[in-house]
Amino acid sequence: AFDVLVIGGGPAGAAAAIYAARKGIRTGVAAERFGGQVLDTMAIENFISVTYTEGPKLASALEQHVREYDVDIMNLQRASKLVPASEPGGLIEVQLENGASLKSRSVVLSTGARWRQMNVPGEQEYRNKGVAYCPHCDGPLFKGKRVAVIGGGNSGVEAAIDLAGIVSHVTLIEFDGQLRADEVLQRKLRSLANVTVITNGQTTEVLGDGQKVTGLIYKDRVSGDPIQVDLEGIFVQIGLLPNTEWLKGAVALSPRGEIEVDSHGRTSVPGVFAAGDATTTPFKQIVIAMGEGSKAALSAFDHLIRTSAP
Ligand code: FAD
Repeated sequence: AFDVLVIGGGPAGAAAAIYAARKGIRTGVAAERFGGQVLDTMAIENFISVTYTEGPKLASALEQHVREYDVDIMNLQRASKLVPASEPGGLIEVQLENGASLKSRSVVLSTGARWRQMNVPGEQEYRNKGVAYCPHCDGPLFKGKRVAVIGGGNSGVEAAIDLAGIVSHVTLIEFDGQLRADEVLQRKLRSLANVTVITNGQTTEVLGDGQKVTGLIYKDRVSGDPIQVDLEGIFVQIGLLPNTEWLKGAVALSPRGEIEVDSHGRTSVPGVFAAGDATTTPFKQIVIAMGEGSKAALSAFDHLIRTSAP
């Protein structure tokens, strides 16, 4: 059995594995795809102390750093069930989709999240070429340019307000007849001179010149007319889905499906900790996920020294 078993191999999981292994305890990482969302990222300019890097490069550095230690890396393994220990201090079981079962005295859950996509023509083709999902990450790349934000919930309206300070113009497109964001955010949004708000708009296509985004087409859901907007960037803000479906009923999840954690990264299950985009921790970023992963591993170690036989 492991002392610390990490599920997920993104920035949070890699950090947790390194911090656990440095305590000299038996550490394992099971990940569906080591590297996580970082693998899907191009330019990274906010990984503090590194002025510029690229996703695949950072992902391989994460793996190399973990391999410096005696960590059992189980890549291409998808967890399907968590079974809490039957008695305090007992072994926690994680079942894998391939039928295998792993046991550990503590577990760090770091299965991350995925952005909900529009699923319209052009979205995949122009991903990272104008189609973006993270305003904190990619906003500055569109300085002085025209962008659209898709989605009028809190994240969409926050993104539009944030981007309005950087880009030349923001078109916010909401599917519904009205925005769903908090009133205070809507008021702020409407006070900005370089933002146009469109409701009843259904984005139907991302347009590009083969290299990068040049615009989008949305359907006016009242008139039925297709309308073209020329722009350089599209931020899709229609939801971030935590990869926690497999944990339902085992650990407490928020209404959005995020793993509920306290300030120490503890979940509702003793010995089970969580970190990164899969949790209720606000702001989904690489440095934050790494910090939280380190914290969860230290909390797991703390749990182990308190529950092990003298
Ligand atoms: P993830 O990176 O999502 O990793 C989750 C891990 O869990 C993966 O290994 C996955 O395969 C695994 N997993 C999932 N389900 C299971 C399962 N059931 N069993 C086993 N393993 C599982 N952040 C920045 O700070 N700067 C940026 O510039 C930046 N740009 C971004 C650009 C894009 C296009 C995207 C999508 C995100 C970007 N982010 C950026 C956000 C950043 O990537 C995330 O905040 C960060 O990767 C979260 O780390 P994580 O370890 O919590 O989760």
